[in-house]
Amino acid sequence: MPANAPPMPAHSADGDPLAAARAAVNQGQLQEAALLAGAAWRAASPADGRARAEAGHLLCVCHYRLGNWAAMLESSDATLPLLQRAGMAAEQVELLRWVTLGACELGRFDQALRAANESCGLAEQQGHATQFALSLVALGICIERMGDPWQAHRMMEEALARMEGVDDAYARCMILNNLCASYIGAHYLLRDGGATEQARSVIQKAAHHAREARTLAPRLPGAAFFTAIIDANLAESLVHLGELDEADALVEGALASVVAQGNVARAWRIRYIRGILLLARGQADVAAPELTALWHELEGSQQHNTLARVHDALYRCWRRLGDPGRALVHLESLEAIERKRVVSQLQAQSALFVTRVEAERSRLEAQVERQRAAEMEAHAMRDPLTGLGNRRLMEQRLPQLLADAEKAGTPVAVAVIDLDHFKQVNDRFGHAAGDRVLVALADLLRHHTRGDDLLVRLGGEEFLVVLAGATPARAREVSERLRQQVEQHRWEGIAPGLSVTLSVGLASAPPYDLDALSQSADDALYRAKQAGRNTVVG
Ligand code: GH3
Ligand code: MG
Ligand code: MG
Repeated sequence: MPANAPPMPAHSADGDPLAAARAAVNQGQLQEAALLAGAAWRAASPADGRARAEAGHLLCVCHYRLGNWAAMLESSDATLPLLQRAGMAAEQVELLRWVTLGACELGRFDQALRAANESCGLAEQQGHATQFALSLVALGICIERMGDPWQAHRMMEEALARMEGVDDAYARCMILNNLCASYIGAHYLLRDGGATEQARSVIQKAAHHAREARTLAPRLPGAAFFTAIIDANLAESLVHLGELDEADALVEGALASVVAQGNVARAWRIRYIRGILLLARGQADVAAPELTALWHELEGSQQHNTLARVHDALYRCWRRLGDPGRALVHLESLEAIERKRVVSQLQAQSALFVTRVEAERSRLEAQVERQRAAEMEAHAMRDPLTGLGNRRLMEQRLPQLLADAEKAGTPVAVAVIDLDHFKQVNDRFGHAAGDRVLVALADLLRHHTRGDDLLVRLGGEEFLVVLAGATPARAREVSERLRQQVEQHRWEGIAPGLSVTLSVGLASAPPYDLDALSQSADDALYRAKQAGRNTVVG
């Protein structure tokens, strides 16, 4: 083994790096867990999609908890498609949340928003209430980091409300802790804007939520990790509330814990909290060198949020120590970070706007698609030759039409129409001429009926007309007029010597019975044919 190789993690003796990595995560040994998860990733055959997906997911957990945002985003690029393919939707939703948070930390708000929306959408699609609530929180964090903690609180409070009555310590703890973090963010905005009273009220809320989250943390796997971050948030809130002794104890405990976990990013944040704690105790002279050391470590890291806070704290320190020159350096650095954040925020908002426009476009496309589908369905109920309805349309409409008429107590008449000796028409004048007769007859039918009458080509040279509201007498009148029109029509236009007649069988409701109605119309038609054709019977 080369001298500079990373140490072999103790857990690897177990043989299964994935199981060992999981155990290490749960014991809060994140550096070691990351090594093991990386080994599991390499050991998993690319053909074994599930094993790779699990290893990738675990590696992302480690990077995430260690605050290695860039590494986490890189791993997530490779892992997300694997999770999707393996059908591991819950893990996919979870990883999208970490992508949201990691991208936020790096100031990549557009990527964060995309991931958050995808996470929410997927969770909703899965119908998973807890996952949805947590994804809403991730979206909230993103919005908070973009500078709107108020909207963030609304989202998180909604997430909390959705979890009402759901016994899920992890989800509840996460939501409460993030609400706390978001209230801390709001506190800084309000304080810097001079809204002292409001700033105090939100920091009280922050402390309240952190205390509740704290009671849940010991129940979670990997409790040490969660306890430390909640304690840090509680400590930060307490410093702003002036409850310095309690804050002090929490800071020292949390710092020792995250250092033991190898969690460098969290350690930075907690050292910042220790800095403002010293400042609050009036020990600016002690705080200044500690915070300055922290500032140098943070520069070049991607912890923009913590770096901004450290500049703010150093600005206050130097002012307190009567060194406006040094104070100004930090104020300018703070403003530079802030300007970058605003640019990134605006870019993300503009991307969001584009996404909205795209969403609107796809909504319109969906509408067009629905229209097309409706047209196609209508098409499926039309006879292509004559444009009349077909048997499918009749089957769909007639039962309802009868039911409505029965309810209203109005009559319904049906006329079954059949061309006389149509076979001979085809034989003598050709099939094309026969087709033209059918088309012309359809026009005559349309002409002699009302718009709301149902016209159907039942097949061949047989048609059905449903006259809603027509009495038997009126139906006979309409049919007789139609029969005459057909008889007198100038069919020579289609073929010299051509003449066409039809026979009509009538039936009417009440009684409102579909089968009885069509049977008696068919019987009447049969009798019309028997009677020598070119006649109406019913
Ligand atoms: P009847 O008076 O007893 O009704 O005699 P018919 O010849 O009209 O009755 P039959 O049922 O024996 O023949 C119907 C003919 O209708 C047979 C077929 O060639 C013709 N036909 C059915 N569909 C079409 C079509 O779409 N186009 C054309 N041109 N002819 C059709
Ligand atoms: Mg016929
Ligand atoms: Mg026929």
